[in-house]
Amino acid sequence: MTDKILRRLFASVALAALAGGPAAAQGHHARNVIVFLGDAGGVPTISAGGILAHDRPQSLFIHTMPNVGLSDTSSLDSWVTDSAAGMTAIMTGKKTNNAMVSVVPSAAKGDVTPVKTLLEYAEQRGLSTGVVTNMPIWDATPAACYAHVASRKNKDDIFRQILAPRFGNGVDILIGKGRADAIASFAARQTTAEQAFTAAGYRFSDDPAIMGQAGRAAVLRDADYAPTPAVEATVRQLARNPKGYFLMVEWDMHTDKLDKGLRHVVEMDDMIRRISAVAGKDTLILFTADHSFGLRMGGGKRGTPLAQQIAEEAAEPGVTTASNQVVSVEDGHTGEEVIAAATGPGAERVRGFLPNTRLFEIMMAAFGWKADS
Ligand SMILES: [Zn+2]
Repeated sequence: MTDKILRRLFASVALAALAGGPAAAQGHHARNVIVFLGDAGGVPTISAGGILAHDRPQSLFIHTMPNVGLSDTSSLDSWVTDSAAGMTAIMTGKKTNNAMVSVVPSAAKGDVTPVKTLLEYAEQRGLSTGVVTNMPIWDATPAACYAHVASRKNKDDIFRQILAPRFGNGVDILIGKGRADAIASFAARQTTAEQAFTAAGYRFSDDPAIMGQAGRAAVLRDADYAPTPAVEATVRQLARNPKGYFLMVEWDMHTDKLDKGLRHVVEMDDMIRRISAVAGKDTLILFTADHSFGLRMGGGKRGTPLAQQIAEEAAEPGVTTASNQVVSVEDGHTGEEVIAAATGPGAERVRGFLPNTRLFEIMMAAFGWKADS
C-alpha cells in the first residue's frame, strides 16, 4: 500500500468515527429530561391498573413507549429496597443502604458522604428544575432529588436543605403535600414556612393554579390535587429557560389501598400521555418505578369489567383464597425488576436488563454530561 492510499484510508476511517461518534451525537442530545416515577409501580401494578381502566391488556400510554428495559432495584444492603435507596440510585447512579437519601456510607463507620444528584448537575449548569409529587415534599423519593441525609426520617434537615441548595439556586418549582409538616418544621426554627420560602425567592401557596404565573414557586398542600394540569403548567414554566430543564414527577402507586393505588396508575399514565404531547421532541421522557409491590392478579374473566369482579369478590368474603383471587395484595415492597420505559433523545439506551443506577447514566448521557469522578 502506498502512503497516499493509507492516508485516504485513515481519513475515511476518521470520518466514519466522527459520523458515529460524539460530534454526530451532539445534535441528538436532550435539552430537557422528565422522570415519571411510579412509586411502587411494579409490572403487576401497571398491568392491573391498565386492565382495570380499559378492560384490555397493554392499554396504557406507557405500553406504547418504544424503548423498554427491566431495572434491578436492589439496594446496597438489601434485595428489597425502600424508596430512599431506590430513588438515590436513579438520581445519583450510586446504590446505597435502605433509608439513606442521596448519601452513601463512608469508610468511617457510621458516617455518610453526599452524592451529587442529577437535579444538582442541572442546577449547576443553569437549567431550571422541578419536583412534583402527590406525597409529602420531604418524603424519601422527592427528597432524593435535592437533599442528602443519612435517614429519610430527618424531616427538619430535609426542609432546611430545600432552602440551602448546594448548586445553583435549588429546585425552582416544588409541588407536593406536607404543608402541615413544613409549617411545624419552620415554626420550630422561629420562622414560618411562608417567610422562609418567600425569602428564598419562591411564591408560596397551597394552590397549584399559581403555576400559571412565571417565576419560582412552592406549592405545599395537605390535600390531593389534579395532577395533569399542575404538571403541564410546571412544564410550561420550566420550558421558559432556553438552557432546558430537569423535572421529576412522583405519583404514589402503593396498592396497600387497592383502589387508590390503581387509580394513581391511570392518573400518572394520563399525565405522561399529555406531557409527551406538549414537551417537545428535545425532551427525554423516562417512566420507571423505585421498586415493585406485592400485588398479584390471580384470576378474572374477560368480558366483565375487572372493577366489577373485584367488587363482587369483596362482597363475598371467605369464598376465595389469595392464590385465585382476582387481585390479591401482600402489603409490602418486592424485589423483582421494574419497568423502565422511555421516549425521546437518549431513550434508545433503555433496553434489556439493567441496574437502576444505569438510569442515572442514561439521563446524564442524554444531556451530554459527564459525572464528576
Ligand atoms: Zn417507593
